[in-house]
Amino acid sequence: MPFSDEERNKILEALKKKKVPRKCPACEGTEWTLGEQYTPLALNDMSAGLVVGGPTIPTVALVCKNCGYVSLHSTLILAHLPVKPEQKEPPND
Ligand SMILES: [Zn+2]
Repeated sequence: MPFSDEERNKILEALKKKKVPRKCPACEGTEWTLGEQYTPLALNDMSAGLVVGGPTIPTVALVCKNCGYVSLHSTLILAHLPVKPEQKEPPND
């Protein structure tokens, strides 16, 4: 499911706070776009062969608009994401 506007804003705010991104390491471009949803990075113990559905690191992907270089950022480190929309209190009456 694509990021909600709230999730997207929190991610962009967290990246900005950490001074990410800067220049693209591949082409030195400075324009980036955020991937549409979380990008799970698979962790795999190859002694057991390829395991589908195993543990992952949740990341967000920044993509260089010029060359397509992909920069992945762990949401756990970045801002304790994934974020969930704040739940509204039910009315008391
Ligand atoms: Zn680039």
